[in-house]
Amino acid sequence: MNTLDYGLSPELVASLQNHKPLCWFNPAYPGNLPDDAPTSDDVKAAEIRLHSSSGLLSALFPELGENGCITSPLKPVPQLQKRLAGSGTWLLKADHALPVAGSIKARGGFHEVLAYAQSLASDAGICRENDLSVLKSAEARALFSQHAIAVGSTGNLGLAIGVIAAALGFRTVVHMSTDAKEWKKERLRRRGVEVIEHAGDYGAAVDAGRATADADPHCHFVDDENSRLLFLGYAAAARELAAQLAELNRPVDADHPLFVYLPCGVGGAPGGITFGLKAIFGAHVHCFFAEPTASPCMLLRLAAGRRLPVYEIGLDNRTEADGLAVGDASPLVAPLMAAQLSGVFTVTDDDLFRGVAALADTESIAVEPSAAAALPGPEWICNSSAGREYLVRHGLMNRLDDATHVLWSTGGSLVPANEYDRFLARGHSLLSSAKQ
Ligand SMILES: *Cc1c(COP(=O)(O)O)cnc(C)c1O
Repeated sequence: MNTLDYGLSPELVASLQNHKPLCWFNPAYPGNLPDDAPTSDDVKAAEIRLHSSSGLLSALFPELGENGCITSPLKPVPQLQKRLAGSGTWLLKADHALPVAGSIKARGGFHEVLAYAQSLASDAGICRENDLSVLKSAEARALFSQHAIAVGSTGNLGLAIGVIAAALGFRTVVHMSTDAKEWKKERLRRRGVEVIEHAGDYGAAVDAGRATADADPHCHFVDDENSRLLFLGYAAAARELAAQLAELNRPVDADHPLFVYLPCGVGGAPGGITFGLKAIFGAHVHCFFAEPTASPCMLLRLAAGRRLPVYEIGLDNRTEADGLAVGDASPLVAPLMAAQLSGVFTVTDDDLFRGVAALADTESIAVEPSAAAALPGPEWICNSSAGREYLVRHGLMNRLDDATHVLWSTGGSLVPANEYDRFLARGHSLLSSAKQ
């Protein structure tokens, strides 16, 4: 196919095909949301559901202690900021440390399973509105044991869904692609989750899971490519971030812009968070996604303005960032991000490993490679020529000293030590070869 046929500039296609890291700025930003977009009331309902689940969650997961909140810290990272010569104030949103599931997937995944359990229980007359503690009753468990929850996943979504669905008493099936890590499959099997492996990529695992679930009326399929409940669970994170920024005395307004950098796979997690943040901060928040150079599915989808899987331009979607190894963006999320997303930058696998090492060396924070994707964000926005054009266009050039940059760290605390040590060693060896 001639590159002109993609509807993209030949330079952009050539850079993507050569795995050259780049930052694409969305020419349609800011745009109007489609009519069928979720509303801020939908996000509010998700926030309430997650809040009212804290008693239930602390009963199901003793490691949560008294307060069963699935929240993560917002941490200043001054040493990292210094190492990467960043301006303004850098903060790390530490979702790699989210309890129980160890990744950002806890937000969307727990929300969807709780919403489904709640709807089954209320249909059966055993759940009153927003009283989720009855979901752990013997009566509710007996009901859930008659139902299955299935999901297709590269790993982290399967972990999150598997853990909570099994804890509530559902029969739980996780369809995984071959690139999913062995330890994730093992961990799920130990919790009584059925793990089915598929030879193809992430999309193939989702398709296979959807097909088997569709054939079973008692099976709810958590559809990572299309789920509003997942999306809204992620969107609820925005309120948490806003409260933490206020606590740290970081205002967000015309004089104090907020930049947020979000690793993107299919787009649900970063898209939901962007949607939630836009509802709170409007034009004062600027959201950017980070994708591996092998899997820039959201970039392609938004730049082309139509479905364009990465394979169609000759990319192979092979990356060590298994949380981001997605070849085709979510059709639910892409139309929303066409209006709300400022841009997308790409990151090589080598840079992901360098980022893992940089976070360990400067801040003693351990993340998986996917979670390090956000790190190059501020440099693209503040120091590239296209980034500076964006800042000029939005009247931000003189506001950088007062800007807040939030790097969203999306996973890693459950990675086994031996696996993490390999990530770190690879990062260190890349950093030391660069110095020679
Ligand atoms: C899933 C995941 C993401 C991205 O979420 P999507 O909804 O797939 O875009 C980012 N980082 C990690 C570690 C993940 O597991």
